[in-house]
Amino acid sequence: MLALRTWSVRHARLVETVYSAFSQVIKLFTPIFRRIPQPILESPVKVVERWAKGLMFDCQMCGQCVLSETGMSCPMNCPKSLRNGPCGGVFADGGCEVKPEIRCVWINAWDGADQMQNGDTIKDIRRPLRQRMAGKSTWVPIMRGEGGRPPWLEGDDHDFSVATPELSRLQELLQAGEFAVTCEYNPPNTVITQDIVSKAASLVEACDAVNVTDCAGAYVHISSLATCAILTREGAEPVMQMTCRDRNLLAVQADIMGAAALGIKNILCMTGDGVEGGDHPDGKPVFDLDSSSLIRTVKHMRDEKSFVTGKDLISAPELFIGGTANPMAPLTEIEINRMIKKAAAGAQFFQTQFCFDMERFEHFMNAYRETGLHQTHHLIIGIGPLNSARAARWMRDNIPGVRVPRAIIDRMESVTDQKAEGREICIEAIKQLKQIDGVSGVHIMAIAQESAIPEIVKRAKIGPQFRS
Ligand code: SF4
Repeated sequence: MLALRTWSVRHARLVETVYSAFSQVIKLFTPIFRRIPQPILESPVKVVERWAKGLMFDCQMCGQCVLSETGMSCPMNCPKSLRNGPCGGVFADGGCEVKPEIRCVWINAWDGADQMQNGDTIKDIRRPLRQRMAGKSTWVPIMRGEGGRPPWLEGDDHDFSVATPELSRLQELLQAGEFAVTCEYNPPNTVITQDIVSKAASLVEACDAVNVTDCAGAYVHISSLATCAILTREGAEPVMQMTCRDRNLLAVQADIMGAAALGIKNILCMTGDGVEGGDHPDGKPVFDLDSSSLIRTVKHMRDEKSFVTGKDLISAPELFIGGTANPMAPLTEIEINRMIKKAAAGAQFFQTQFCFDMERFEHFMNAYRETGLHQTHHLIIGIGPLNSARAARWMRDNIPGVRVPRAIIDRMESVTDQKAEGREICIEAIKQLKQIDGVSGVHIMAIAQESAIPEIVKRAKIGPQFRS
């Protein structure tokens, strides 16, 4: 089965030609098919469709086939069922974050789309899966001349305009061209508000904004929304991270409204890590949305003042919208296209995965600047102090999407105080990043050493204390 699936992607152009010829032929019989009651037609067609598409594409009969838009690689075989992939978790060898033994379905999709005549449609934002369509035939509507996808959230998929009034202090700063510093905050497992505030205090003081993780790595913690609300009340500037892993379409919109009502101004939309790698592997991974469709949802609610169903809101959630990116992703071209897609969906700023490999980063930046996104969007680069050479090797081998070059590991190994060397490397990287055209700031992620962040910020001479 996998062999045939791979063959279909490798020969996407041929499959596209056959598929489109097949569609033209069945359309000739539309007047006849229309005379047959739909349920009577659906039963036998479904059997053939399931068999043929199952054989060729491992089709799961989602009832809303997008194979012609996804390089003939069925997105239902992505363990997160993403409709706009890949996610940020692809391993350096192209392996899937959730099932490393298979090649990422979405890397295959972009490869397939590259060969196809209408391959560019992969760049469009696809609507979330409609769960109630599962098991239905996609061929029957074509046969009856009822094809065509209903629109989802009208809008130009290639519109990069991000002009909004300044919605948050972070946005204000970025728009003023200041070099921003944000950091990652993992809230403690407590319900005592004061503990949450105290743990964040030094980060709030040292940085322009603090990202609150949303059950990072699929490990359960107090909610990002609640923590952001607590920090907002204390006068801090949080960025609420929101993943698609744990919320269906209703919960997503409910939380977006709730966040705005509680005074939260910044949101970072992410797909989220698979539950398989966390501490609740038996939990249900939801993924009704993916990062691009989540961004589009927030933008729609904010700018159109309505839910995705079109139902009006009394007031709109005014949020500064961010998306994630990974300059270290195995294929730069796909990553850049993913960013363009997120920008078109409504992202106004990007925060990235760790960037330790400066050579590769330069390569990414050249491609990024060619898109022109550096003139319209704010790019905040992920960086952090490594704890030890051992930790660096572990991150390289176990965190999907993270690259730590051999030279850094060797440098860490050559000293006795590896923790101090890790901080030194981080400070040097920040100084380098500050000089790069198109970089708007840094996002510091200090795994198991959050307390090091204020010192790093101070020694790198960035952040609110060094701004006049
Ligand atoms: S790496 Fe991510 S996008 Fe690719 S198949 Fe796995 S879960 Fe899906």
